[in-house]
Amino acid sequence: MLQSAYQDFYRMFEREMGDRSKTVGASEIGLCARQTFWKKNQGTAKGVKIDDDYKDDWGARIRGIIMEFAFWVPALRKQHGANLLFAGTEQENIVKGHLSATPDGLLINQRHDALRDLGVKNIRSDCISVECKTIDPRTNLVEAKEVNIYQVNTQLGLFRETTKYKPEYGLLTYTDASFWSEVDEFPVQFDPAMYEVAHNRATEIITAKYGKDLAPEGWITGGKECGFCPFTTACGIERRNLPYAGKQPTSQFAAEMEDMAKEHNAIKLAIDKKEIELKQKQIDIKDRLRAKGIRRIPNVINWYEVAAPVRYQNKELRQAFVGLGGDPDEFTKLGEPSDRLVVSATPAASKVVKKQKPRVKAKAKVKTKAKVKTKAKVKTKAKVKTKAKAKTKSKSETRNRKGKAK
Ligand code: SF4
Repeated sequence: MLQSAYQDFYRMFEREMGDRSKTVGASEIGLCARQTFWKKNQGTAKGVKIDDDYKDDWGARIRGIIMEFAFWVPALRKQHGANLLFAGTEQENIVKGHLSATPDGLLINQRHDALRDLGVKNIRSDCISVECKTIDPRTNLVEAKEVNIYQVNTQLGLFRETTKYKPEYGLLTYTDASFWSEVDEFPVQFDPAMYEVAHNRATEIITAKYGKDLAPEGWITGGKECGFCPFTTACGIERRNLPYAGKQPTSQFAAEMEDMAKEHNAIKLAIDKKEIELKQKQIDIKDRLRAKGIRRIPNVINWYEVAAPVRYQNKELRQAFVGLGGDPDEFTKLGEPSDRLVVSATPAASKVVKKQKPRVKAKAKVKTKAKVKTKAKVKTKAKVKTKAKAKTKSKSETRNRKGKAK
């Protein structure tokens, strides 16, 4: 009884949100483009059927809305008074082109060091946008979620482009859904290039003809997002869509495919190598923790036991069931068909043919090769070094911020 009462009540909130099919919202811009397209076009000729077994779990959404209106906004209002704009009942949907956002708030008349405790010495403006999120206590939140960073950046861009306010920073807040006294805060600096990408992405999604024309980004990025997607069946059909005919390739097309296959397998080899490095690093970490007798360092590491999963012996279970006169087919469900892509061409190494050269010539060649090799090496190293440095820096910055926020 209560379930349907909840459901009806929640739908009221949804209706209040109005029609959002004409633009891509800040909270959607970092999600899978194909899924977003199908959501926008649901119920139209461009849309696709929702999975039969899909259940829209709106629980976390309503939790966030209630937390925001009942506690987060009143708390900020008490502290900042009239300096809190665009919040609560004053929330506004800001639109530019195909991009839109409904920010949770904007704090004006702020001191330049308003975010000093979070590692930002100067906010380079007199205002900051603020975003409210609740987070499941089981989530191991080491840094802000990428999709939320994208969201805040879009809000900052839209504020800057469409209002007189020019915030350079947004504050992303995560309140623990069980213990509202626990909050993690992350300052996000405006990135104009990311904002431009958001505009282009929104246009691409809104103006696309078919969902299949947009990349299945959820699947490409590991499939986590697909676990919550209402269109996995339709998307799977598009991804597996094999060409009908068995035509013979031209030599030019075969060469093109061979290059792509080699690139594919070079990436795969690199991943395999990285996976070995990753596992080795995990062993090293465990060894060090074991040696020191430590399991947990807050916000850094947590090593704990996981109960053994129950595994059913399907064959024996089936036999016993049949023995009792049951029909297993009554409980059988056909899964989704899948496809397989076998990529055989290997990257160069195995095809290198060593030729014997005259001595002098060989010497000259070795010298040239060495020169080229060194050059290439320096270039690659420099590239890696810059990237690694940037990454390490931002990681440690995040840790500092988080540590201080606690
Ligand atoms: S199933 Fe995955 S890849 Fe396909 S639309 Fe959904 S989220 Fe995107």
